[in-house]
Parts: sequence; C-alpha cells; structure tokens
Amino acid sequence: MHARIYLDHNATTPLAPQAREAMRARLDEGDSLGNPSSPHRAGHRARILLEEAREEVAALIGLPASGLVFTSGGTEADNQAIVGRARWRERSIGRGSIVTSAIEHPAVLEPCALLESEGWRIVRVGVDGSGRVDPGAVAAACAADTALISVMAANNETGVLQPIAEIGRIARARGIPLHVDAVQAVPWGVLDAGIDVDALTLSAHKMGGPPGIGAIWMREDFGCEPLIRGGRQERGRRAGTEAVIAAAGFAAAARAAAGDTGRAARIGALRDRLERELIAIAPSSRVNGADAARLPNTTSLTIPGTDQEAIVIAMDLRGVAISTGSACSTGSSRPSHVLTAMGLAPDRMRSTVRWSLGPETGAEMIDAACEAFAAVIGGARATAVPASGEAV
Ligand code: PLP
Repeated sequence: MHARIYLDHNATTPLAPQAREAMRARLDEGDSLGNPSSPHRAGHRARILLEEAREEVAALIGLPASGLVFTSGGTEADNQAIVGRARWRERSIGRGSIVTSAIEHPAVLEPCALLESEGWRIVRVGVDGSGRVDPGAVAAACAADTALISVMAANNETGVLQPIAEIGRIARARGIPLHVDAVQAVPWGVLDAGIDVDALTLSAHKMGGPPGIGAIWMREDFGCEPLIRGGRQERGRRAGTEAVIAAAGFAAAARAAAGDTGRAARIGALRDRLERELIAIAPSSRVNGADAARLPNTTSLTIPGTDQEAIVIAMDLRGVAISTGSACSTGSSRPSHVLTAMGLAPDRMRSTVRWSLGPETGAEMIDAACEAFAAVIGGARATAVPASGEAV
C-alpha cells in the first residue's frame, strides 16, 4: 500500500503550511488578541490583523478591499449574493427573475430554488456537451425584471471554465448585476485580475486556507440586504464577531497562491500526464469537458462499465483519495446535475470519477495513483458488467 495520496482538492485542500503558521502565531498571541470591535489595545490588534487579511484576500482577486466581506464560507457567500439581492429587490421593486446556469453548485441552486418557491422566476441556462454555458443563451434569458445573473467561473466537477468576461459584458450592457461563484477558479489564477463583476464568492478551504471562512466581494452599489443580522460588524453587511484567526489563515493561503506563479502550469502538466496515463490504462474512458478550457487541476473521467463508488472505495483502500464528483453529493444516489446538463447517459454518470490535484501534488504521486488505478481497473474488468456493451 502506498502512502496516502490526496487527489480530492476540489472537495477541500490540506491546510497550506503558510496558513498553519499564520494561525498558530495568532493563537499564540492569547489574550493580546481581542474582539476587533473593542476599543482597547487587544481589540485594536485584532482589527489590524483583520484589515490586513482583507487587503490580502482582495489583492488575490485584484479588487478593492473595501468591498470584501468575510463569511462562514462559500455557501454563505453564495446565499448572501442571491437571497440578499432578492430581498433588496423585493423591498424596492418587488419580485423578479434570476438568470443562472444548470451546472451551479448547490450553494447557488438551492437559494434559487427557495426564491422560486416564493414566486421568483428562475431561468437555468443549459450547457453544451463540453459543459460550457453559452453567453448567447444568457443574453436571451435576460428580461426587464432580471434582478441578477449568477454564473460560476469554473465548475467544481469538471473544471470547465465559463465565459465570465463575455457574460459580464452582456450583464453590463443590460444594467443587470453579475454574481460569480469563483470558489474553484481563484486558487488557480484563471480569473482576470480586477474582473468586472458586482459580487464574487470565495472560499478559503479550496485554496489551502481553513474551512469555515470565505468571503463575498460586493461592489459598493450592489443592492443587497444582509442575511445575517445582529451587530454592525463588516460595515453592517454581515453581523457576528469576525473570525480573525481564520481570516489570518485565509490571507496567508491567498498570499501563498498569489506568490506561486508557476502553480497552474506545473499542475496542469501533471494533470495532462495523469489523463494520458488513465486513458492508456482504460482506453474506452473519456474526459468530460476535454474540448473546453478547464482548471489545470481537474479531471472528470468516465470509465464505461464501472461503478464510481466501487472505484473510489477500491482506490481509497490503495491509499488514493479521489471522488465520485462533488463532495456535497456524496452519499446521495442522485446523478450529477452537471453531467446530466452535459447530456451524459445515467450509466455513464455512475461510471464517472473526479481527480483533483493540488499545489503539493508531485509526479511520483501521479505515478502511484495510476498504478493503483491499473490494479483497480484490472479488478473491475474481471467483475464489471458493462452497461452499454463497452469494454472497460
Ligand atoms: N461553490 C463552489 C463552486 C464549490 O465548489 C463549493 C464547495 O464545494 C462551494 C461553493 C461551497 O463552499 P464552502 O464549502 O466554503 O461552503
């Protein structure tokens, strides 16, 4: 059995050493670190650290720090953008519509479904066979009552990059605000710095930061009601005592990501090598979204005639952590909504596994993972009942 090889970074990343170090240093400050809202020296120290963290995270996306609000994670940030926008609009004009895509994370789809149940019209634009949203379809879906367009920058299951810049131009031309879930895209530097958006979602634990903290960046004039009510923290945009130590970890991870300029090319080359080897081992397998621009770390692989859960478990027994798709769907027998939108047949969806690399992934890990896969697939070949008559 190999040492553990972790290839599930789209679910969560191990804590980056820089983030661990930054948080440990803050923990060691003990009672010299107070509540950032307190007027004494310990409060002032916490305020300084919090604002430094805000600057650092905002720098990673090239947007002004004043627009960045820390949240409990990407899910809260998505909810804030969507439900917060809807509540603001209900107060000023009344219900309207939201344009989103069929492949969004549940953190976007579920708040949209909630609003739909309240009488909002939700238009979910489909994707092509490569998993890419057509900007023309977004334009066609917009109406006079559209209160928000929400489209993710990169899909968490396939890694497919979405045409955010083009969708942004469409949104601007119509005067509709654009929210972008950039949780998976930002760690890989695939977003244009200073991207023209009205709201943008980030999550620390997808980039080497701690879980339980994220952020929503909002333009000053983005009409949005706060979801979490209480004190006046975060300039009244998100109540609750700020998680200063987690914010320090988030900032350190952001700084490490920004400083590692070769990360995307290095990991992209390893990912391409992984794909070549996987296909050599299981020649009938197929990379979903292979024709589209993708995150450099992600491979969604369909291996016809196999069972995804059996593969994930067998790989785990050999010390390699991969995933059936999104961590949020693990344990549910529902087929992937992303692969459904791409037109995959149900048996193909049940034969799909996701490999997602991280900055610490090395060539020797890829080789060992492929060796494990060959052993697993050898076993699967002997036992699989190909659903569509294909060889594995
Ligand atoms: N958006 C996307 C695209 C994600 O992949 C995830 C997490 O998987 C989220 C939002 C939710 O982020 P968090 O886990 O920080 O709540």
